[in-house]
Amino acid sequence: MKSKRNMIILILEVIILVIIIILYMNYKKGMVDINTLKVFKESSYYQEKYHDAYKEIKYSDNNQFLEITNQLLDKNYRPDEINNIFEYLSDNNIQKLLKMPYVSLENYYQIKNLDVNNINEYSEYRQANNLSFEDAVTEVNLHLNQDFYTDIKTIADPSSITVLVNKFNALPSDYVPTDLVNVGEYHYQMRQEAAKALEELMAYGKTENVFLIPFSTYRSYDYQKDLYNKYLSEDTLDTVDTYSARAGHSEHQTGLAADMRSSSLTDNVTDSDYEWLLNNSYKYGFIIRYPKGKSKITGYMEEPWHLRYIGQEDAKKIHELDITYDEYYDLYIAKY
Ligand SMILES: [Zn+2]
Repeated sequence: MKSKRNMIILILEVIILVIIIILYMNYKKGMVDINTLKVFKESSYYQEKYHDAYKEIKYSDNNQFLEITNQLLDKNYRPDEINNIFEYLSDNNIQKLLKMPYVSLENYYQIKNLDVNNINEYSEYRQANNLSFEDAVTEVNLHLNQDFYTDIKTIADPSSITVLVNKFNALPSDYVPTDLVNVGEYHYQMRQEAAKALEELMAYGKTENVFLIPFSTYRSYDYQKDLYNKYLSEDTLDTVDTYSARAGHSEHQTGLAADMRSSSLTDNVTDSDYEWLLNNSYKYGFIIRYPKGKSKITGYMEEPWHLRYIGQEDAKKIHELDITYDEYYDLYIAKY
């Protein structure tokens, strides 16, 4: 009998608490709504025709809040859309939005690598390929809806350790890293930080009976050009493009890439060495840049011997996420 009474009291308490929370939230919402309208009324931006809309828009601390809100209303964005825009979009994306005709961003607001300039492409590509909204955004950002080697951009910061070099992003033809050093006793050169890390990785390998040595590291733009042309004399263009980068598009020009071979093989790694690299190279800041089954994204066939240095923190995250560097760069490094 007593426990039943206690139960009823408990339920009543919960109900009262929920009512208080709902009242408080409505009160807060009301406060914010009044604020936006009030701020508009006290400014030179107030427009009578938007009086009701202002009441539904949450105040944002964006320093161009009033100006942007009016511009979005002019473009026929609804108050709920405007609230999402201020809550989720970067300043950069908001500025892009103001230069475009109205677009619906439904389902896209919370996608972190959203680039509003691509919104129509996302929708088309998503429907054609039956993808999630997130995957459509990443793949379109990576230009996978286009042919490789089209719409090529020249990389602005080629000396960044996290530089993304692929078939859409080219290094300047005159880019030469300024801190190239030999990797240990080998006459192959890499950037200082990468060379040191590779020496450590090789030393660690030895302790686990994995004997790896470099067979190609830094390559100049001209060397890459000659190499690609040499392959072209032996194979068709389409085939060469699956295994050799065009000049400017090779990671080897960054001084951050190394092709490794088992000391027992001439230009490859054994399956067990590859397994070892997959599970250990990230500890020294390296990733397998062209993994198996990812050629649709990377544009290259599997290259188990090609390591790319990007630093320990990012390498560890990529290892955990098990995604390509192209995807990782778009999701975690690029700013939209
Ligand atoms: Zn390579």
